[in-house]
Amino acid sequence: MCIFCKIVNNEIPSNKVLENDEFLAFHDINPKAPIHVLVIPKKHVESFHEVDGETMAKMTPFIQEVAKMLCIDKSGYRLVTNIGKDGGQEVPHLHFHLLGGGKLRWDHRSDANPQKNI
Ligand code: 5GP
Ligand code: ZN
Repeated sequence: MCIFCKIVNNEIPSNKVLENDEFLAFHDINPKAPIHVLVIPKKHVESFHEVDGETMAKMTPFIQEVAKMLCIDKSGYRLVTNIGKDGGQEVPHLHFHLLGGGKLRWDHRSDANPQKNI
Protein backbone atom coordinates (compact mmCIF):
# COMPACT_ATOMS: atom_id res chain seq x y z
CA MET A 1 0.00 0.00 0.00
CA CYS A 2 1.40 3.44 -0.88
CA ILE A 3 2.13 6.11 1.72
CA PHE A 4 -0.86 8.29 0.76
CA CYS A 5 -3.21 5.27 0.88
CA LYS A 6 -1.92 4.76 4.43
CA ILE A 7 -2.74 8.40 5.21
CA VAL A 8 -6.26 7.85 3.81
CA ASN A 9 -6.60 4.79 6.09
CA ASN A 10 -5.24 6.73 9.09
CA GLU A 11 -2.34 4.28 9.37
CA ILE A 12 -0.05 7.32 9.05
CA PRO A 13 -1.18 10.52 10.80
CA SER A 14 -1.69 13.71 8.81
CA ASN A 15 -2.76 17.26 9.47
CA LYS A 16 -6.07 17.27 7.59
CA VAL A 17 -7.68 20.35 6.09
CA LEU A 18 -10.80 18.92 4.47
CA GLU A 19 -12.18 15.56 3.43
CA ASN A 20 -15.25 13.97 1.97
CA ASP A 21 -16.01 10.44 0.79
CA GLU A 22 -13.75 10.71 -2.23
CA PHE A 23 -11.04 13.28 -1.55
CA LEU A 24 -8.66 14.37 1.19
CA ALA A 25 -6.60 17.53 1.69
CA PHE A 26 -3.76 17.60 4.24
CA HIS A 27 -0.69 19.71 4.97
CA ASP A 28 2.56 18.68 3.30
CA ILE A 29 5.09 17.37 5.82
CA ASN A 30 7.88 19.42 4.17
CA PRO A 31 6.23 22.69 3.10
CA LYS A 32 7.78 24.62 0.20
CA ALA A 33 5.58 27.70 0.67
CA PRO A 34 3.84 29.35 3.67
CA ILE A 35 0.81 27.24 2.76
CA HIS A 36 1.47 23.86 1.18
CA VAL A 37 -1.41 21.42 1.12
CA LEU A 38 -1.73 18.16 -0.81
CA VAL A 39 -5.06 17.17 -2.32
CA ILE A 40 -5.60 13.52 -3.23
CA PRO A 41 -8.34 11.18 -4.34
CA LYS A 42 -8.94 8.53 -1.66
CA LYS A 43 -8.87 5.79 -4.23
CA HIS A 44 -5.38 4.95 -5.47
CA VAL A 45 -4.62 6.52 -8.85
CA GLU A 46 -0.97 6.58 -9.80
CA SER A 47 -0.79 10.05 -11.37
CA PHE A 48 -2.67 12.69 -13.36
CA HIS A 49 -1.93 10.66 -16.46
CA GLU A 50 -4.09 7.76 -15.18
CA VAL A 51 -6.99 9.71 -13.64
CA ASP A 52 -10.40 9.65 -15.34
CA GLY A 53 -12.30 12.78 -16.28
CA GLU A 54 -15.18 12.07 -13.91
CA THR A 55 -12.84 12.02 -10.90
CA MET A 56 -11.17 15.25 -12.06
CA ALA A 57 -14.56 16.92 -12.56
CA LYS A 58 -15.42 16.15 -8.93
CA MET A 59 -11.98 17.04 -7.66
CA THR A 60 -12.08 20.56 -9.13
CA PRO A 61 -14.73 22.03 -6.78
CA PHE A 62 -13.11 20.18 -3.85
CA ILE A 63 -9.77 21.88 -4.52
CA GLN A 64 -11.51 25.25 -4.90
CA GLU A 65 -13.18 24.68 -1.53
CA VAL A 66 -9.83 23.87 0.09
CA ALA A 67 -8.35 27.12 -1.31
CA LYS A 68 -11.31 29.03 0.18
CA MET A 69 -10.86 27.33 3.55
CA LEU A 70 -7.19 28.34 3.56
CA CYS A 71 -8.21 31.94 2.65
CA ILE A 72 -5.96 31.99 -0.44
CA ASP A 73 -8.75 32.03 -3.03
CA LYS A 74 -8.56 35.84 -3.37
CA SER A 75 -4.79 36.32 -2.96
CA GLY A 76 -4.03 33.51 -5.41
CA TYR A 77 -2.25 30.23 -5.29
CA ARG A 78 -0.48 27.65 -7.41
CA LEU A 79 -1.77 24.19 -8.22
CA VAL A 80 0.86 21.69 -9.34
CA THR A 81 0.89 17.99 -10.00
CA ASN A 82 4.13 16.18 -10.77
CA ILE A 83 3.92 13.22 -13.12
CA GLY A 84 6.48 10.44 -13.31
CA LYS A 85 10.25 10.55 -13.26
CA ASP A 86 10.95 13.71 -15.25
CA GLY A 87 8.06 15.48 -13.53
CA GLY A 88 9.72 14.83 -10.17
CA GLN A 89 6.91 12.70 -8.73
CA GLU A 90 8.10 10.97 -5.58
CA VAL A 91 4.84 9.54 -4.24
CA PRO A 92 3.06 7.39 -6.84
CA HIS A 93 -0.47 8.42 -5.79
CA LEU A 94 -2.06 11.37 -7.63
CA HIS A 95 -1.72 14.56 -5.61
CA PHE A 96 -2.10 18.22 -6.32
CA HIS A 97 0.20 20.60 -4.48
CA LEU A 98 -1.77 23.68 -3.42
CA LEU A 99 0.80 26.39 -2.69
CA GLY A 100 0.22 29.92 -1.47
CA GLY A 101 0.30 32.31 1.42
CA GLY A 102 2.92 34.54 -0.25
CA LYS A 103 4.22 35.59 -3.65
CA LEU A 104 5.63 32.48 -5.29
CA ARG A 105 8.68 32.32 -7.53
CA TRP A 106 8.47 30.61 -10.90
CA ASP A 107 11.54 28.45 -11.14
CA HIS A 108 11.60 25.29 -13.19
CA ARG A 109 15.20 24.42 -13.54
CA SER A 110 15.98 21.38 -15.60
CA ASP A 111 19.06 19.25 -15.94
CA ALA A 112 18.20 18.96 -19.62
CA ASN A 113 19.50 21.61 -22.01
CA PRO A 114 16.57 24.03 -22.54
CA GLN A 115 17.95 24.79 -26.04
CA LYS A 116 17.34 21.22 -27.06
CA ASN A 117 13.88 19.97 -27.71
CA ILE A 118 13.99 17.20 -25.10
P1 5GP B 1 5.88 14.72 -5.21
O1 5GP B 1 7.37 14.95 -5.22
O2 5GP B 1 5.53 13.27 -5.35
O3 5GP B 1 5.15 15.60 -6.19
O4 5GP B 1 5.37 15.23 -3.81
C1 5GP B 1 5.29 14.42 -2.69
C2 5GP B 1 5.06 15.31 -1.51
O5 5GP B 1 4.61 14.52 -0.43
C3 5GP B 1 6.30 16.06 -1.02
O6 5GP B 1 6.06 17.47 -1.05
C4 5GP B 1 6.52 15.53 0.39
O7 5GP B 1 6.97 16.54 1.28
C5 5GP B 1 5.14 15.02 0.76
N1 5GP B 1 5.13 13.91 1.69
C6 5GP B 1 5.88 12.76 1.61
N2 5GP B 1 5.59 11.93 2.63
C7 5GP B 1 4.65 12.56 3.37
C8 5GP B 1 3.95 12.18 4.57
O8 5GP B 1 4.14 11.12 5.15
N3 5GP B 1 3.05 13.08 5.05
C9 5GP B 1 2.82 14.28 4.44
N4 5GP B 1 1.91 15.09 5.00
N5 5GP B 1 3.45 14.65 3.30
C10 5GP B 1 4.36 13.81 2.78
ZN1 ZN C 1 -2.09 5.13 -2.91
